[in-house]
Amino acid sequence: MQYKQLTSEEINRRIRLRKKRRIARRKRRRRFFSLLFLLILICSILLIRSCNNKSNSKTESNTSLKPLLSEDRFTVCIDAGHGEYDNGTYNENLNAFEKDIALDISLKIGQILEKEDINVIYTRKDDTTPWKSQSDSLKGRCDISNKNNADIFVSIHCNYYDDSPNIRGSEVWCRFKDTKDEKLAKFINNNLSMINFTENRGLKYESEKKLYVLKNTYATSVLIELGYLSNTKDTKYLKSLEGKNKCARAISEAIIKYKDLINEDEQQL
Ligand SMILES: [Zn+2]
Repeated sequence: MQYKQLTSEEINRRIRLRKKRRIARRKRRRRFFSLLFLLILICSILLIRSCNNKSNSKTESNTSLKPLLSEDRFTVCIDAGHGEYDNGTYNENLNAFEKDIALDISLKIGQILEKEDINVIYTRKDDTTPWKSQSDSLKGRCDISNKNNADIFVSIHCNYYDDSPNIRGSEVWCRFKDTKDEKLAKFINNNLSMINFTENRGLKYESEKKLYVLKNTYATSVLIELGYLSNTKDTKYLKSLEGKNKCARAISEAIIKYKDLINEDEQQL
């Protein structure tokens, strides 16, 4: 085989051709890697989006379990004791029913708290109840508080003592000492005693008597016995507009004080 002698021109042409091919190869490689990078970028964006959608739907399903209004707002469940077929205690001479006094004061407390941008839930807002027996009633009240994720549950009642019309005074029930419930009970008891309309019978605990609504609500729970309907002075005061307004104001301010204290504690954590 005979090799042709290459001219310098031919050599230069071939060098240029090889150079061109090399540049073309490089361009193709660059284009390939650019496309690959773009593809990876698109895949990553799609992956992130799908993850976000999943987490969003999880949040939606979680919040759907929460009440419509509560979200992060402080929620108070006010439980006006008794109602409808259940009068509670009754002062015959003054025609005063416990269920009416409890309802009036509960609604007034709610109005004050709502003005403070607190989410208020009521177990009843008038003289009708969805439950028809005492056991259903207690469970129903707890369910309303629990389903609404209430922070505080406050049950409003009046007392009665058969053996003496002279017994009088307000008392606040909670389950145990050194608890948040006791803290709230103390605030309410102090505020009620400052009205000075009756005797201060202090705080009462589960060790003395077990109360269903305190045991079966998840919220910080207290039960208030405003006074004795077996006592004329207590009944007159609790039946009066001034009495209802002052009691509602005292209880509301105690609740707001407790809420502020809890907020401060959380901020310090
Ligand atoms: Zn009662």
